[in-house]
Amino acid sequence: MILVSGCLLGQPVRYDGRDKLSEDALLLRWRSEGRLVSYCPEIGGGLPVPRRPAEIIGAGGGTGVLDGCARVVTDTGLDVTDAFVRGAHRALQAAERAGARMAVLKESSPSCGSSRIYDGTFTGTASPGVGVTTALLEQHGIHVFSENDLHRAAEHLTRLETADT
Ligand code: SF4
Repeated sequence: MILVSGCLLGQPVRYDGRDKLSEDALLLRWRSEGRLVSYCPEIGGGLPVPRRPAEIIGAGGGTGVLDGCARVVTDTGLDVTDAFVRGAHRALQAAERAGARMAVLKESSPSCGSSRIYDGTFTGTASPGVGVTTALLEQHGIHVFSENDLHRAAEHLTRLETADT
């Protein structure tokens, strides 16, 4: 099974109440094969829809948040770190319950980003880093790919399945 960001599967769970539906053929195929588990960590952490946009501030990206040396704040200055960390743990639980060993999560999100996240300035500027949920999943051996990297995700899935046979 593959854990997938709910917004990529068409759920209107983003901060602005919209989705980010991906119609990539690989995702559609995996969906029709019943391989996908949909999850939104920010909803899982108790945040509402819609909600203020949030970004990670402080060095270390998502790993720093888990280590307590970075925070997640909204554009109005509200500290929402606890909700993001709670959502990450619930996403991990959802993945483990479903037997998911890899994930496809939305790039650039402070929860789901896997190579870039917004830099905490709320200016639309992204820099290298990972989201809070991505960091936790990776710590637990669940490799995270973005929706822009589905061919590598497919190769990884093949490797996992080959190792099982
Ligand atoms: Fe999508 Fe992840 Fe943001 Fe939820 S937390 S809306 S799944 S990018």
